[in-house]
Parts: sequence; C-alpha cells; structure tokens
Amino acid sequence: MRIDTLLNANKRMLSFEVFPPKPNTDVEPIRQAIDSIADMKPSFMSVTYGAGGGNSKNTVEIAKGIARKGVTPLAHLTCIGATKDDIRKRLSELREAGIENVLALRGDRPKDMPSDIEGEYPYADALVRDIRDFGGFCIGAACYPEGHVECRDRAQDLSNLKRKVESGCDFLTTQMFFDNSVLYSFLYRLRDNGIQIPVVPGVMPVTNSRQIARSCELSGTSLPSRFRMIVDKFGDDPAAMKQAGIAYATEQIIDLFANGISAVHLYTMNKPDVAAAILSNLSEILK
Ligand code: FAD
Repeated sequence: MRIDTLLNANKRMLSFEVFPPKPNTDVEPIRQAIDSIADMKPSFMSVTYGAGGGNSKNTVEIAKGIARKGVTPLAHLTCIGATKDDIRKRLSELREAGIENVLALRGDRPKDMPSDIEGEYPYADALVRDIRDFGGFCIGAACYPEGHVECRDRAQDLSNLKRKVESGCDFLTTQMFFDNSVLYSFLYRLRDNGIQIPVVPGVMPVTNSRQIARSCELSGTSLPSRFRMIVDKFGDDPAAMKQAGIAYATEQIIDLFANGISAVHLYTMNKPDVAAAILSNLSEILK
C-alpha cells in the first residue's frame, strides 16, 4: 500500500521505526524484535539506512520481512557519497522486492568524508527528483520543526524544504521534538509557504537519558523544561526513566491527535516493549 494513500484516508494511525543490525552484530535478536513490532500491526513501519549505504542490503531484507508480516514497509535511502548508478541499483532492488515507499534522505556527512566532496547528491532534493524520474514509488522526505542543524537560518531552511517537496515528495516525516507547540508553529509556517503535502510528526519515547542528551545536541532538538525536569529526576533510574518516557510520549501523541493530527510516527528503536506500552495506552483512542 502506498503511504500517501494511507495518510490521505485521514484515519488516526501510528507508524513505527526500526533499524537494521549493524555490521558484525548478532542479527537474530534484532530480527525477533522487528518481527514482534510488526506483529502489533502498525499502519506502516520504516527501516533506517546507514549513510554511505554500507548496510543497504539489510534495509531491503528487513523491509521485505515486514511486508511478509502484512505491514506496509517504508525503506529509508540516503544518497550522500552515492553515484547516480548506485542509486539506480538501490531503486531496482527495492522495486524487485516489491517495496513501494521510500524515504529519500541525504544522510549525515560521514566524519571521514572531506568537506569539499559533495558528490552527485549534495542534497536530498536531487535524490527525490531521481526517484520520481525512476518511477513507481511513493516518496517521503525528512523535515525539521526546529530547523536542520546545518542551516540556522529558518527561512532558508524552509525554502530548501520547499524545493525538496517540489522535486516530487508525497509526504514528510519530522525530526523528533518534545514540545508540541514547536510542531504546530512549524506546520503553520509550512502551510503559509504553500507546502500542502501530509506531514507525519515523529515522536521519540525517551528511555535512555544519556542517549537523548547526545542526540538532541547533535540534531539541535531542544528539551523543554518540563521534560528536562523528568530527565534530571529519573535519568539515573532506567526503569523509572522508561516509564516516564513512555508516559511523556503518550501525552504528546494524545495532544497531537486532539489537535487534528491523524498520523504519528514513533521512533521505537527496535524496542517492542516500548511500542506495546504506547499502543496499550492509546488502545481506545486508536479504535
Ligand atoms: P536535506 O534535505 O538535503 O537538507 C540538509 C541540509 O542542507 C539542510 O540544512 C538544508 O536546509 C540544506 N539544504 C538543502 N538543500 C539545499 C541547497 N540546494 N543548497 C543549500 N543548502 C541546502 N539518516 C541516515 O543516515 N539514515 C536514516 O535512515 C535516516 N532517517 C531519518 C529519518 C527522519 C524522519 C529524519 C528527520 C532524519 C533521518 N536521518 C537519517 C538523518 C538525516 O539524514 C540527516 O538529518 C541529514 O543531515 C539531512 O538529511 P535530509 O534528507 O533532511 O537533507
């Protein structure tokens, strides 16, 4: 099923994100975790992709496994450092695997990549264009309610996003955010700038305080004081932090639904217990 068709149905839904095993790690526990998440029958499941493409086969294999479970897969695809030929090969693999949905990303510049090498895909808009020309895919892309870290000029970031959308995106998924008012004002700015495609807000249930501090720093995501207080209080107690993180994410999602958002993407990070707890908290709301 194409994800834009799902989103345009305007039904309340959750999607979950998983990541493939890193090279030289045990594949089996991850496969089991992903199967358990798929068994919860989210509306769709996205599978991340390593920047530089090192792990691309795993992304396709996991997406195929998700489809076998009867869940719509969304395969991420990054383009930094790739050639046009590489991308055509990746798209052919996806097409052969019967995958209809691709999240087109530039990817973060690997640390060892010289900054003057831009390659054939300096930004994701070129990838979106090539996927559109290749044909047959529903195309998603990333957006950043607090602006992307590399572009601190919000207006410029928005006009870069508009160019990407006009290259052929069918929907957008946001970076995580912890203050829903940031998301609402971002959505107003998108609509004001003529960006009308569906936007799926991305919510991260925080279960590890150290990890979140680091990823917020890297992604430029701010922590509202209400959330910071929770991390300060429970961050050293993993079980309490997990419970508080699930409760906070649940509240965020309920507020999003209450404000007319119909689809929310959960950064479930291969944690079936977290996905199950949130689904249980929302059981009546998602009926
Ligand atoms: P772009 O849209 O290309 O934007 C990158 C930066 O360049 C922005 O600052 C933008 O303003 C600027 N820019 C865009 N176009 C131009 C232009 N023409 N001229 C000048 N500046 C321009 N990373 C992975 O490696 N694997 C994943 O699976 C993955 N999944 C993700 C899923 C989501 C929902 C999100 C939000 C991010 C994900 N990322 C992933 C991270 C992403 O790859 C990084 O945030 C990356 O730095 C930017 O990717 P992008 O596709 O948003 O880039």
